[in-house]
Parts: sequence; C-alpha cells; structure tokens
Amino acid sequence: MSLVHKLKSLDMQWKILIAIVLGLTLGLTLNQTVGPNVQEGPFFILKTLFQYGGDIFIRLLRMTIIPLVFASIFMSIVNLGNIRKLKRIGSVTVVYYLTTTALAVLVGMLLVNWIHPGRGIDPAAIEAMQIESVVPESVAAQGVGERSSLLIILDQLVDMIPKNPIQAMAKGNILQLIFYTIFFALIAATLGKEVEPVVRVIEGIDRIMHKFILVIMKIAPYCIFFLVTVLIMDLGFSVLGALGKYALTVLLGLIIHAGITLPILVLVFGKYNPIKLFKAVLPAVLTAWSTASSAATLPITMDCIEKKAGVDRKIGTFVLPLGATVNMDGTALYESVAVIFIAELLGFDLTIGTQMIIFVTATLAAIGAAAIPSAGLVTMGIVLTAAGLPLEGIGLILAIDRILDQFRTAVNVWGDSTAAVVVGRIEGAITELKQD
Ligand code: ASP
Repeated sequence: MSLVHKLKSLDMQWKILIAIVLGLTLGLTLNQTVGPNVQEGPFFILKTLFQYGGDIFIRLLRMTIIPLVFASIFMSIVNLGNIRKLKRIGSVTVVYYLTTTALAVLVGMLLVNWIHPGRGIDPAAIEAMQIESVVPESVAAQGVGERSSLLIILDQLVDMIPKNPIQAMAKGNILQLIFYTIFFALIAATLGKEVEPVVRVIEGIDRIMHKFILVIMKIAPYCIFFLVTVLIMDLGFSVLGALGKYALTVLLGLIIHAGITLPILVLVFGKYNPIKLFKAVLPAVLTAWSTASSAATLPITMDCIEKKAGVDRKIGTFVLPLGATVNMDGTALYESVAVIFIAELLGFDLTIGTQMIIFVTATLAAIGAAAIPSAGLVTMGIVLTAAGLPLEGIGLILAIDRILDQFRTAVNVWGDSTAAVVVGRIEGAITELKQD
C-alpha cells in the first residue's frame, strides 16, 4: 500500500492530527524564516492560497448554520412536545438538563474569566492575521455610556423577537431565529398529527444538515492544515502558549463539572454512589471519547444504564435519547470558554451584557448542537454571532478542536447518564441490587 493510500485510510482524528502537526511545523518555519508580514513573492501567493483554503471551510460551515439551527432546535422542541404525555418524567428531565447545562456554562465562564487564556498575545501578531475585526454594531451599541446594563439586557431580550423571521434568517440573526424556532416548534407540537407533514420535512432538513456537516468534515484536514499554517505563520510561538492555556481551561472546566458538580447531583438527588455509576457507564464514556459522537454512543449508554446501573428501561429509553440530542454539558462549557477566549485573543472587551448573551446562547447552542463530531464547532457560530464577534474567530481554535471534542463528548454522555439515575430515583425506578 502506498503512503497516499495509507494516509487516506486513516481515521479522521489521525488525519486532522497530522494536518495540525504539519500546519504547526510549516507555520512555525514560515514564521521564523519569512515572517508574518510577507507582502509579495511566492510565499505571499502561498499564504494567500492557504487563506482561501481556510476561508472556504469557514464559509461552508457558515452556510449550514441557519438551516441547521432551525431544523435541530425545531426537532428538539417537537421531541419535547411528545414528552408531555410523560408529564413528570418530562419536566424533571428538562429541568435537570437545563440546570446542569447552565451550571456547566457557569463553571466554564468563571474559569475563563479567572484564567484569561487569551490575554498576553502580541497585538501586532493578531493584527497580522487579517481577521475581520470591525466592531459589530451590537458590541458598539453596548459601549454607549448613558444606558444601564439592565436596560441594555432588556433591549437585547426584546430584540430577540423578530419582526420578520425571513429577515432574521437572511441577516443571520441567530438569537431571533432561535426565538422564532422555539415558538414555531411549540405550536407545531401542540397541533400534533395535523402538521405531521411539516414535521417530516423539517426532520428531513435536520438529517440533511447533519449529513452536511459530515461531508464538510471530509475536507476538514486539508482546510485545517491551511488554517493552522496561516495562523501559526502569523502568530508564531505565542499562540501555542495561548492555545495550550485555552485547552487547559476547557479541560479543567470539564473535570470540575464531571468530577464535582455532576457527582454531587447524583449523590444528593439520585441517592446513588457516583463512583459506582461512573464504573457502570465507563464503556459508554470511553466510546464517547473515541467516537466524539453522543449519538453513536447512545445504544451503549442505554445498555449500561439499564444493565449495569440498574435504572428501569422505561426511564433510559426516554431520558437518554433526549439527552443525546439536547443535553450537552461539555459542549456548552466548551463553547462559553472558546467564545470568551476568541474575544480576548481578538482584543474585544466583553461587557456584562455580552457575557450574559454568551451564557444564554451557549446553553441554547449546546441544546441545538447535533450529537455528532464537531457539531459544537458549528453551533459556536451561534454564540459568536450573538455576541457580535467575528465568525472567523473559529479558525483560531480549530487546531485543537478534535481532541477537545472527544473530552466534551465524554462529559456529554456522562451528563446524560447522571440524568437517567436522578430521574430514575425520583420515579422510584432503580433496582438497588444492581448497584452492588
Ligand atoms: N461531538 C459532540 C457530541 O456528539 C457535540 C459537539 O460538541 O461537537 O456530543
């Protein structure tokens, strides 16, 4: 088998890893030899071509956002609509999911605001990256001194209601789109059978968009190579330190959420030994880590929860599939850290109002994220756009996305498992013997 064939048959994570290593190597070499500000000659042409390569990838991701947000949030809400029949189970599950996701975002935001992984990068190097850094209206508007933060937040809340949903989509106003979609989906859920064809169509769009991401991911290694090369060529060594600190912030947040917050909830509300639960669902958590997909892991999670943790099947079959779609604590935490890191790196000052927007949209974006690899990367566009930050900022963190995806997916699946136990306990649906 030739080297090219061998490379082609590698798993996606290896391809991306190789792309990153090559990008880092070439970028650093160019940074040290040609320098970041090359304006002419073959290296300028090379850099420009690489920039196009990265731009194509960002554009492809961007063009999925509007239909993806609409279809995946719609399907989540319609699924929630079905759980009405399950009354108490439904409300306990939803409250648990929302609370844990919000707690995860909170942990992430506290950590990133404490550690500040994006500070201390040479501003000249960031300028050289040529990322579009025009101050977006929403950020500029917040700088107006006369209005109090409360009024600014209220303004933003009211502005979430779109005057025209088509305009909201065309303008890429994600917050308005989310509001409209929730409203639309709730009403569709109450109409049930009457609007079944509409639901089928949107379900189809949802599936297509998920497939879209998988297709786009096929060119990801090449584009990541281009992006990383240009990024490192411009930033030099300093970004390595910053990205390292950023990755550590995400990982520390994930460890706190998975190792402290969730176990406390399992202990207090689930009255279940969290270590025993962790051992029971470890195969699922490891599969999640390896595949970076909560959806692919779902059958194993359901099996572990029922057969090893002793939670009644009727709880697991409801709580876990719903959790795989809407409950993504790791993703939510990651998105909040990533967005604030990007803002710091690009020199944006985030007001309390913008931080609140990040808090809310990171929670919503995680709910709307598909349970497939890199979905969090795409829905992060929601948070960036809502916070008035350039979408191109995603390019800054692509380099280490895959490995962080694996850790956040593991936490997503662990979060779903804890929900099954807590809901199972409240419903009296846990077989004590199986806890041993
Ligand atoms: N890969 C994650 C999952 O499937 C979603 C994401 O954060 O990208 O749970």
